[in-house]
Order: sequence, then C-alpha cells, then structure tokens
Amino acid sequence: MEIEKNKDYEIIVFPNQDEGLKAQRILVTNGMDFKHISSLAVAVSGAMAEDACKIILKEMGILGGHYKFLYRDYEEDFFKKAEGYKVSGANGEFLKSITLCYVAPCMADEKKIRLIAYFDRDISEILPYLNSVIKGASYNKNAPTLTYARERRLVNLYNIKVTIAKADDILDAWKLLDDIKDLINTTYRNKDGIQPNYKEKVKVTALQIYGWLPKTNCKACGEATCLAFAVRLLQGEQKLSKCVPLSTESKFAENKKIMQEMVEALGV
Ligand code: SF4
Repeated sequence: MEIEKNKDYEIIVFPNQDEGLKAQRILVTNGMDFKHISSLAVAVSGAMAEDACKIILKEMGILGGHYKFLYRDYEEDFFKKAEGYKVSGANGEFLKSITLCYVAPCMADEKKIRLIAYFDRDISEILPYLNSVIKGASYNKNAPTLTYARERRLVNLYNIKVTIAKADDILDAWKLLDDIKDLINTTYRNKDGIQPNYKEKVKVTALQIYGWLPKTNCKACGEATCLAFAVRLLQGEQKLSKCVPLSTESKFAENKKIMQEMVEALGV
C-alpha cells in the first residue's frame, strides 16, 4: 500500500517479531491492504484500522495497540527510518528484553503517543543506582518507581515495567526503549563503582514555582498567566529562559538563581 498525503492512516504496533509477522500473515490472508513498516508495525488506512485489529484478534493474534498517523513534514523520512531501525533483540547481561505491550495516543496531546512496556525481569535492585546516574530523577522507594524527563518525554520505571508519555511516534518509542535497556544494563555492569541513592526527591509543586515567578501575567513567555507557565515548566513543556522579566530584570536576579537550581534538580 502506498501512503498518500492528506489521507488518514493508523499505525498498528505488535509486541514482538513473531506476533508482528503472524499478524501480517493474517492481514494478507484476509485480503487487507497495509504498508509493512517492519516486523513490529504496519500502517493501515484510518477507515479500516478497527477492522484490521478485530481480524488479528479474532485469529488469536496479539496487538500492542494503534494510534493515528498524522501527516508530518518528515513522513517519508519516518518510513525510511522506521523500516531501517533494528529494534534490539533479547540480548544483554542483566535485562535481556523490553516488550512493548500497549500503545495509544497521549490524552493531552494526540500528536504524541504513550506506551507501556514490560521488562523480562524485576529491576527494583537497580533503581537506587539509576537514581544516582539519572540527573533530576525522582525516586519513590516504597512503590518502587523512578521518574525522570527525557527532554519532553516522561519516563516512569517500575519494578517490571516502564511507561512513557509524549513519545513522538513508534520510532521514537523503540529508540527510547533501546536506550532504557542500555542504560539499565550499563548501570548494572558498573554498579560496584556507583553509590546507590535511596533518597527521595522533595516534590516541587506548580504553586511553589509560581511563588518565585514575577507574577505580572505579562504573557511574554507565550502563556496566559504566570501560573500556566509554572504548570508547563513543571511538565517540561516550557523553558525558564522564556520568562522575559526573570531573564532580563536585575530585581529578579535572586529569584532566577533559585529557580535555575530548582529546574536543574527537577530535571525539566
Ligand atoms: S513571561 Fe514570566 S512574568 Fe510574564 S507571564 Fe510568563 S511567567 Fe509570568
């Protein structure tokens, strides 16, 4: 199937190569048109996405999920890169694999995707070491979870799974999962030389951030209010430097210094 501009498509994602190839055989057998992206994903027309998923599930196939493929400038590039991307297989000394089990559009931004993937083993013992290694991570030893921002993406590591919000697309998701696997394995390999950090980070709220802002609601940052700016800064969607008075007026120099430390500690 050729992908044409200004048409609706959905990307269907599979948890592993075996399931991906099985699902694609089912689609072929049932005469359904699709574009092969890799053994882990296909594109189908938006109108037939639901039917394609139903047929795969009816014939005992397994899906990771599906999301709307929005035409973007780099579309051709996306297919080229996604076709050429080799998702790392079941290798690695500590963590062998991460299986992508759920994909859906982000609730707050349908241009982004969220996902859940499962580890092939419990990684709880490595979380305090990752808490040392990952700048700005937030560790909760009771859960246990480790949360951090990777640029604008939000990563939550649990004992046996990882959730990611605001990934760009499935290619971005595969790369993130491979990076996470490498990070966990490298940290495990080097753990004798890393001081584990069991400390939980003090939580910072949007209101606390707001307290250090100029509170003029001047809109120079592109937000309607300083509070909206604080919320988006906390979510990693704004940059401190975008607050013009804070960056340019000497009376806010001290606030700026404090906020820079805050933002650095938050890793946003
Ligand atoms: S630029 Fe700074 S002071 Fe102005 S609205 Fe944005 S956060 Fe508030």
